[in-house]
Amino acid sequence: MSKKRALITGVTGQDGAYLAQLLLQEGYSVHGIVRRSSHAGVFDHRLRWLKIAEAIELHDGNLLDLSSLARIVQEVQPDEVYNLAAQSFVTASWQQPILTGEITGLGAVNMLECVRTLRPQARYYQASSSEMFGLIQEDVQSESTPFYPRSPYGAAKLYAHWMTINYRESFGLHASNGILFNHESPLRGVEFVTRKVTDGVARIKLGLARELRLGNIDAKRDWGHARDYVKAMWMMLQQEKPGDYVIATGRTSTVRAMCEIAFRHVGLNIDEHLVIDPKLFRPAEVDVLLGDPSKACAAFGWKAEISLESMIEEMVEADIARLRITGAN
Ligand code: GDP
Repeated sequence: MSKKRALITGVTGQDGAYLAQLLLQEGYSVHGIVRRSSHAGVFDHRLRWLKIAEAIELHDGNLLDLSSLARIVQEVQPDEVYNLAAQSFVTASWQQPILTGEITGLGAVNMLECVRTLRPQARYYQASSSEMFGLIQEDVQSESTPFYPRSPYGAAKLYAHWMTINYRESFGLHASNGILFNHESPLRGVEFVTRKVTDGVARIKLGLARELRLGNIDAKRDWGHARDYVKAMWMMLQQEKPGDYVIATGRTSTVRAMCEIAFRHVGLNIDEHLVIDPKLFRPAEVDVLLGDPSKACAAFGWKAEISLESMIEEMVEADIARLRITGAN
């Protein structure tokens, strides 16, 4: 039997890298779409970190360029398509709301169109997001909780989410949405709060910095580990029927509590280093997120395995190791 072929957009991001690793372990031939630019530097550093860069076939393309997607889908003939690419940083989505809508919203529709017209038998995964819940309408958010996005990013993700459902219902595509709550790892970008904290704590520990500046530390998130969450993506596409699933730990913590884990791990006192910077507060905040993953657990036995504590400790250790090699860069 020939290998199953998977096509991943956003393969150079955190989730793309872990998903590619999982699919390689599962025996897939893995193809990724990369958006090259003249100033991109080492664009595949996450794939290198996982030592899988050589094992993946990369294709130049862009979610905004339907012709590039069509060429790649025709070439690869994928069995599974994972649409993970997005402008995913919430703060930046207020600075570039239209671009965010184009990439995160319309980009998904470009991919869905390619699947519908060129490869309708392929199974499609859309990376939906807990940011769609925004101003939460229920204390614990599940698949039936009404959405109320609070950022251009959340609104764009909601459009892509509904278009995925539309393509499933209108054209019979095997198209699923994973409504993933925040998920982190040593491969998370430093613009996100967990990695900013673990990188900042590592710098303070190594004497490279004295303080860590944060915005709203009372915000609460349901944080899981990306390695656990990419498993859920794959499992979703192995189900006979497509569907929409919340993927979360079922536990929520404040930014401050997450930060305390990092400081405690290296034996530092948080109050001596943490500085609150009003400039880092957002125009509209998502105060609290807490997901109920019981549908995914009942349907295919998924649950989060890695705790917040062990994830933050792993991230601090990885940042210390990285800084020892690279210095302050
Ligand atoms: P998000 O949930 O996708 O927006 O993930 P982030 O990791 O960017 O932010 C999580 C929460 O941390 C939000 O409520 C932010 O307001 C809060 N936060 C507090 N200080 C900071 C900071 O310095 N950077 C970021 N990115 N978030 C911060």
